[in-house]
Amino acid sequence: MFETPKPLSRRRFLGACVAAGASLVGRRAPAADPARDPAADETKALVAITLDLEMSRNFPTWDQTEWDYEKGNLNAETKRYAREACRRVKKHGGVLHCFAVGRVFEQPDVDWLKEIVQEGHPVGNHTYDHVFVKATKPEEIQFRFRRAPWLIEGKTPREAIAENIRLTTAAMKSRLGVGPAGFRTPGGFANGLEDRADVRQLLLDLGFDWVSSKYPAHPVGEPGKEPGREVIEGIVKAQEAAQPFVYPGGLVEVPMSPISDIGAFRNGRWKLDWFLKAIRQGVEWAVDNRAVFDFLGHPSCLYVPSSDPEFRAIELICDLVKKAGDRAALVDLTTIARRAKLRQGEQPK
Ligand SMILES: [Zn+2]
Repeated sequence: MFETPKPLSRRRFLGACVAAGASLVGRRAPAADPARDPAADETKALVAITLDLEMSRNFPTWDQTEWDYEKGNLNAETKRYAREACRRVKKHGGVLHCFAVGRVFEQPDVDWLKEIVQEGHPVGNHTYDHVFVKATKPEEIQFRFRRAPWLIEGKTPREAIAENIRLTTAAMKSRLGVGPAGFRTPGGFANGLEDRADVRQLLLDLGFDWVSSKYPAHPVGEPGKEPGREVIEGIVKAQEAAQPFVYPGGLVEVPMSPISDIGAFRNGRWKLDWFLKAIRQGVEWAVDNRAVFDFLGHPSCLYVPSSDPEFRAIELICDLVKKAGDRAALVDLTTIARRAKLRQGEQPK
């Protein structure tokens, strides 16, 4: 019930049709097989666990902000947490979708990430320096380029952003031997990339067919205070706005599902139990509605003792999926993107 079967590739599919003497001319390709592909099985909720591999300001201590300039300089605890989280999800029969900033690949040792890839966990592109992809002025792109503007001198913001994405793909290929599995924008946007057809086109041009950029607005309550009923209900309500869809032009959006670890532990200054309560209700809503839940965590935030050092959120999500039986599947974001495409009646690549 937890396996994520590979759909028949287009080539193999075409091969099978030719072998059966079928003609595709003037005919629509049949839909993917729900028995083999959870993306095509609308009786199933799709649940993903994702981790952004980057350092986070205010962690492990509140005064830590230098990470803003060194997002990819992962410390040992962060790497250890990511590694162990992947192991745990795999034990539950699923995969964990990671997104890495390119600067990670400047670190001397990336064996831990190679192991993650070898175990079958996809790794997506999160830009090289954690740049703001909607920036229209050089000073908006990223802290590093404010301190060291010569690094992007002579480039328009669009050129600097495109290079930041392209370099990450090149670094991944060079050090992991694989290209990126999708793209996630640094920072989430309540409206995704709805307002930026140019950024959507840039991503398509760079070879991506889906993006994870939308993080719906939701209440979080007063910092440090236990979220009341309205806050939890508001977070559950926001799940409706966190469902995948296709933008005009063809790029697929796979939103992040509130509440993220940063939203809870930094913005809300929540306790772990409050976080787990919100996550549980979000996943249960997705299961009940055969919808999508896309958990967003950051190992650099989660490993901290006051966050979730014992992987309770990840274990909870895996348990909820298991409990749902054949009503839910633990999947990666590429599978969720495929569901959005299948719904549009498009044969996915
Ligand atoms: Zn990020």
